Amino acid sequence: MSNRLEYLIKKEEEEKELSNKLRRDFSNSDHDIEGNFIAVLGRQFDNDYKFNKCLKPLWAGFYIKYNDLELMVDPGVNVLERTQRIGVNISKTNTLFISHAHTDHKNDTNVVSEMVAYQESPKLKILMSEKSLEEGAMSNYHIQLHDKEKDNLIILKNNVDIDINSSTSIKPIEVKHSIDGSFGFILSVGDMKIGYTADTGFYKTYKTKDGEFETSKVTDKNEIEGPGEIDHKLVKFFSDVDILIFNLHGVSFRKHTAHNLYHTTVKSAVDVLKGSNVKTCIFDHFNSTGCLGREFSEEVNDYIKQETGKDTRMVGLDGLVIKLNLT
Ligand SMILES: [Zn+2]
Ligand SMILES: [Zn+2]
Repeated sequence: MSNRLEYLIKKEEEEKELSNKLRRDFSNSDHDIEGNFIAVLGRQFDNDYKFNKCLKPLWAGFYIKYNDLELMVDPGVNVLERTQRIGVNISKTNTLFISHAHTDHKNDTNVVSEMVAYQESPKLKILMSEKSLEEGAMSNYHIQLHDKEKDNLIILKNNVDIDINSSTSIKPIEVKHSIDGSFGFILSVGDMKIGYTADTGFYKTYKTKDGEFETSKVTDKNEIEGPGEIDHKLVKFFSDVDILIFNLHGVSFRKHTAHNLYHTTVKSAVDVLKGSNVKTCIFDHFNSTGCLGREFSEEVNDYIKQETGKDTRMVGLDGLVIKLNLT
């Protein structure tokens, strides 16, 4: 063997050692945020790069730590950097919830699995719908990485509780989105309930010039003029929680497209929050391009706060952390 090749082999070994050490250090370190918390990750890439603002809203994702629960929800694009930026060590995840198979919610599911694998005895429960599984929301390899039997994969069923541990359960709530098998949830931890709407519309019917029709039977989207009757059942699910994470998509209802039958507006937020038991509502997913910076989303938040009298928070481009008290 030539000296040159020997040198390169040695270099490669050195590289492996360094990266293994980095992985060990990472899996041994704590979250930078102390205690129990909700950390919403914020925008996927650095907003200072001009053309990042061309991207659609690819910035879902939040993390809930509550005692033994380490829950990652909807790891969209660039989840490793975003969790580190906000102070979350993603390798600690023990439960992964995927609401649906759109890129902004499932892009980095495999990255989460990969990072968890660096723990000494990794354990990861994976929660997703049958449809999301079919859509390839996560690779088979990464689902099985921690459990060859695939017992760690739990398929979501509407309204059927999933026990995570003795004091924690998740109730999946099927929502109305542009892809089937989309679910939000009600998480019960201690004596607290945390809701997540995922991406959804809140209307049972829509209006046209000729009358009102069911949202599940759209024949011609060009006829859609405005929202109709609210889906009270869906609203009820999310109105009995203490903290609600609400994916807000826009201010106005878009006519002549089915978009707002499957996505929320400011009016939906007001409809859900007014008269609800929600104490704190976190709006995520808004300000899709970030072109107007933080100010515009704060103005939207102020409007909803005034209309509902609730404690509402808007996730800024750099994310948002809320501390949860121990019970
Ligand atoms: Zn979506
Ligand atoms: Zn989305």
